[in-house]
Amino acid sequence: MSNILVVEDESHLAEGLRFNLEAEGYQVNVVETGEAALELFEEGGPRFDVVVLDVMLPGKDGFTVISELRQAGQFVPTLMLTARGHPEDVLKGFSAGADDYLTKPFDLSILIARIRGLLRRREWLVGTPPAPPPPSEEFTFGDKSVNFTALELRVRGEVFPLTLMEVNVLRYLIEHEGKPVSRKRMLDDVWGLHEDTDTRAIDNFIVRLRRYIEDVPAHPRHLLTVRGVGYRFIAAPGDAKK
Ligand code: CA
Repeated sequence: MSNILVVEDESHLAEGLRFNLEAEGYQVNVVETGEAALELFEEGGPRFDVVVLDVMLPGKDGFTVISELRQAGQFVPTLMLTARGHPEDVLKGFSAGADDYLTKPFDLSILIARIRGLLRRREWLVGTPPAPPPPSEEFTFGDKSVNFTALELRVRGEVFPLTLMEVNVLRYLIEHEGKPVSRKRMLDDVWGLHEDTDTRAIDNFIVRLRRYIEDVPAHPRHLLTVRGVGYRFIAAPGDAKK
């Protein structure tokens, strides 16, 4: 049974989420503060498969919580609940390490669909025992190699943990190696977002990925910008432009 942690201080909303998620067959834990959520992870207590994290919390806000979790090496898929009309919250959430977001007020069926999506990706990446092994769990380019299941990138012996969404973005670009991929297509295919979403969210991922995979992030050789379109991944850049 999948275990969901809800971090939400509005008790009406929290209990409504608990009721509905339990009705969907999930095990649900609710905490009211970010501090309480972080403690649950520190204790090494229950293992959570997805975290639903509100941005507006007393004490530490959702952005602080997600970035502390990531810094502590916790890469549990996390969906942030942001305020409507604050696109900067979405960008800030993604920069801090969130995997997905939903704006308040939201439709419950959408929340459940997003949670299912995160769980599906987690299973797909972590791989449940009876599932066939993923076709390519590791991809090597130059002196770097990314492991899609372990969620890590190795660069000359150094290991960088990646979040689920960072891995998904990188995998998507690698799958389309050499071809320009638009931001819109990435939002559609990686996040499953068909609505009009601010495509700058993608740019934050690219900035982070470049910090890992580029020797000089300001002059990328693997993760190239395609002006007016989006991005293109090149596994083996030629040495013509140095
Ligand atoms: Ca709140």
